[in-house]
Amino acid sequence: MTAQIINGKEIAQQFCDDLAQQIKQLKKMPKLAVILVGDNPASLIYVRNKQKKAQEIGMECEVFHFAELAQENEIVTLIEQLNMDKSVNGIIVQLPMPKHLNETHILETVQQDKDVDAFKQVMSGALWQKKAPWASATPQGVLLLLKKYVDNLCGKHAVIIGRSNIVGKPMAALLLNEDCTVTISHSKTIGLKDIVKTGDIVVVACGVPRLVKKDWVKPGAVIIDVGISKVDGKLCGDVDFDEVKDVAGAITPVPGGVGPMTIAMLLKNTYTAYLKQMDNL
Ligand code: NAD
Repeated sequence: MTAQIINGKEIAQQFCDDLAQQIKQLKKMPKLAVILVGDNPASLIYVRNKQKKAQEIGMECEVFHFAELAQENEIVTLIEQLNMDKSVNGIIVQLPMPKHLNETHILETVQQDKDVDAFKQVMSGALWQKKAPWASATPQGVLLLLKKYVDNLCGKHAVIIGRSNIVGKPMAALLLNEDCTVTISHSKTIGLKDIVKTGDIVVVACGVPRLVKKDWVKPGAVIIDVGISKVDGKLCGDVDFDEVKDVAGAITPVPGGVGPMTIAMLLKNTYTAYLKQMDNL
């Protein structure tokens, strides 16, 4: 068997084209504010890509770039100003931040109706109760891909590798909300390979290059690889793509799988935030 290759780049582009049409109908441009601290090379690329895509679909995106040694109160003050600014619909803080900063405190400063990354604690809780206005971008993008490649998610066994607040846990909540049976595995899981083998769907987000091998995968399973690592100067995921594609039913490549979906969902969340804010005027 050779798996269908899930073309996240193409699916994200179609999604963004539709979003651009919807944005054209609005009275004014939605605006996303991005806060970046320091010069982490990967973060610089991610922020540039977000800004480029936002502008492409007719959304304003302003980047506030702080120096590596910026003080927490400077960042908090800016977020408070952006919270008050009616022209700003969404605010994100690019992670990771330099170690001297209290990430939780900074993220919690973002006003809830502008938290388009859904990283605030209240947003995580709302997601588990099916009451969230939107979910974090990456798991939402994964769900959209799964809906295109799995006929009916109801009752399927989804195995997630990784339990981070930004990918693994919200992914579990979203799949549970779709009536999947969900197993969350992590670095302390015993017998990971055997657990993964029971998954009709496997979402891998652990940051361990090519961890998942051919003999870990149930034939026909749909495999979504969230991981991004650089090995010998080349990007690769958490799944050994070259092996696993011979067993899986469908699989995302890295790059060109989940990454473009993340940006598309962030812009969708900003558009949704705009609509909700307009409703509340
Ligand atoms: P994280 O470091 O916060 O969490 C990693 C998780 O993986 C932890 O829960 C840990 O318990 C688990 N883990 C680590 N080693 C493991 C092992 N050997 N076996 C099983 N579980 C293990 O990472 P994160 O922020 O969730 O990101 C995970 C990966 O996804 C990274 O490579 C990151 O770069 C990537 N990522 C990609 C996108 C995207 O848009 N494509 C978005 C976010 C994260």
